[in-house]
Amino acid sequence: MHEEFPTETPAVVTCGLPYANGDLHVGHLRTYVSGDAYSRALDRLGQSVAFVCGSDMHGTPIAVNAAEAGVDPESFALEYHEQYEETFPEFNVEFDNYGHTHDATNTEMTQSFVRSWIDGDHVVEKEIQVAWDEEADQPLPDRFVEGTCPYCGETARGDECDEGCQRHLEPGEIEDPVSTITGNPAEYRTRPHKFLRLSDFQEYLQRFIDRLEGTENAKNQPREWIEGELQDLCITRDMEWGIDYPQNNGDAAESQREDLVLYVWVDAPIEYVSSTKQYSEAVGEDEYDWETVWKNHADPGAERPEGGEIVHIIGHDIIQHHTVFWPAMLRGADFNEPRAVMACGFVNLAGEAFSTSRNRAVWADDYVESGLHPDLYRYHIVTGSEFTADVNFSWDGLAERVNSELVGTLGNFLYRSLLFAERNYDGTPDADVSEPVEAEIESAMESFRTAVNDYRVRGLGRAPVELAKFGNEYIQRHEPWKLTDEDPERAAQVIRDCVQLSKAIAVLMEPVLPGKAEALWEQLGEAGSVHDATLGAALSAPPTSFDEPLELFEGIEDERVEELNRQLEERVEAAGDDADGDEGGEEDEDETGAADIEPIADDRVSFEAFKELDMRVGEVLSAEPIDGADKLAKLEVDIGVETRQIVAGIKELHDLESLPGTRIVVVANLEKSELFGVESDGMLLAAGEEADLLTTHDDAEPGTRVQ
Ligand SMILES: [Zn+2]
Repeated sequence: MHEEFPTETPAVVTCGLPYANGDLHVGHLRTYVSGDAYSRALDRLGQSVAFVCGSDMHGTPIAVNAAEAGVDPESFALEYHEQYEETFPEFNVEFDNYGHTHDATNTEMTQSFVRSWIDGDHVVEKEIQVAWDEEADQPLPDRFVEGTCPYCGETARGDECDEGCQRHLEPGEIEDPVSTITGNPAEYRTRPHKFLRLSDFQEYLQRFIDRLEGTENAKNQPREWIEGELQDLCITRDMEWGIDYPQNNGDAAESQREDLVLYVWVDAPIEYVSSTKQYSEAVGEDEYDWETVWKNHADPGAERPEGGEIVHIIGHDIIQHHTVFWPAMLRGADFNEPRAVMACGFVNLAGEAFSTSRNRAVWADDYVESGLHPDLYRYHIVTGSEFTADVNFSWDGLAERVNSELVGTLGNFLYRSLLFAERNYDGTPDADVSEPVEAEIESAMESFRTAVNDYRVRGLGRAPVELAKFGNEYIQRHEPWKLTDEDPERAAQVIRDCVQLSKAIAVLMEPVLPGKAEALWEQLGEAGSVHDATLGAALSAPPTSFDEPLELFEGIEDERVEELNRQLEERVEAAGDDADGDEGGEEDEDETGAADIEPIADDRVSFEAFKELDMRVGEVLSAEPIDGADKLAKLEVDIGVETRQIVAGIKELHDLESLPGTRIVVVANLEKSELFGVESDGMLLAAGEEADLLTTHDDAEPGTRVQ
């Protein structure tokens, strides 16, 4: 439906905003490195592109944590914002503009969006029941409240079911709400709030999702939401920290609500627009005009808005925000729509979820301090799995990939080729590139183009390594070291091919390995920067002379890996004593409540009531992740009389592959339920947030009743 990249109209690539509430770890960096690589790849294709982002400064977790730290939320968030600005370049993530949601540009832009919705009659005021803490005498927006998800029954926090079905939850939807401030059950009070009427955009969204490009998960997951009844989106909150609901918008009937701020998910995506505008202002509109990209240039009400190419790169937990709410928000303000949404999986640390509360994380600073080149991390994380799948980070995994692929394949080919060329020809031999090698380079360029147009970041990382693999086979097959005396012309030809392959590799590796690509570019004696080279340069002649090359990559020794692992283990152990055991996973910015041991419930149940529960010993036969769900795994469990399929929120907490054979305890007579479209027939018993599985002490057979 869309023309292939590069297009005539400019593009913008954005990354989901980091939430200015804590240090970044290597798991967080996946989105930013992928966005950076994708944006660089578009640039190599000759596409005009801006790569923008900013810090997400608002919302309840920041307000809560700032209050705990005794500082105002703005200074609290700004400190992290400034830290992020320094961290990204350390991983060669080079935004063209990096703003934040609390700056003047975004405040003004956000209020103008809301005014457009009001003018277009898409905003309604409704009295709703909001959770309220009697003791603290305050409303409990979003993460100030915890309870049960009305859709899947999992524990949910405020505005999202982050442990279960991942739905966005509207104020008042959460069941059995408990205040995270006092731990008391929350009351409900009636408060007037503003809503964006999403149903106005339902038909538009259905057409939008049909033409949306990007990764499959982002195109498919929203269908269920868009085809069902679209609830109005509450766009205001009873809070002080945030962007004020716009006043004096000229409509007398519109009640003034000075006590409300906008919901964080209103101003956060609008930062994509604001950040692009700031870039445009910095370089001048002749160079890059944000309005060409973002404003709708079609007739109002046209089937599809027109503008530039908008590509959003996000974690897959925020697909709904980017494929339902955000396009409706844009449409309501007569802005252009995203061309593509690319949603990546999470990052696990050595097979388990990151846990910031247990200090079980490789922090961005840890990586920087390790002295390892940032491109090594980039390569590991980008090529470690397909973009939409979860990927594992470990020091062992990193070392293995670096040693085999970057040192063994890529570095080895480049070094032996360029050294031979420099020693024997003082640079590039005087010959033409042979046809088969030219064809091979063209085919690598084609894979690169395809990876861009198919939104496959991993393909960008694979292209240069595949070409180096070809190069190694080529040089091995032709043995130029034997030819220099026997057939000097043929030797020059082979080495000429190898130098061309090296240059093509430099261009192809620029998106994922930008620092190393630049170093290679210099080794080749090229003028200017590889960051300005287009893909076509892969076939243009290299300079005739260059200096003796240096090895581009250095291997990582086993001892180094052991040392890095030891550092991590020691820290986890040190944190173990004072951690509260709260497993945060990727959503670890939300430790708001006191997670100490719960008191025993006052109400006693009768023995008869207990006996109604039919609990059995089961043996796990298989355990596999459920695609698209962050926390859910599907288990086949033998409970003696039959085999049951059980869905449990243990995907990130356990190494699923190690579970088969484990004896567990299953509640066998629980009503069946459906989680993420998968039937669950039974429930396994597990202790605490870490879902420590209850197992049997001896060898009770599957089917044995637990009593
Ligand atoms: Zn849920």
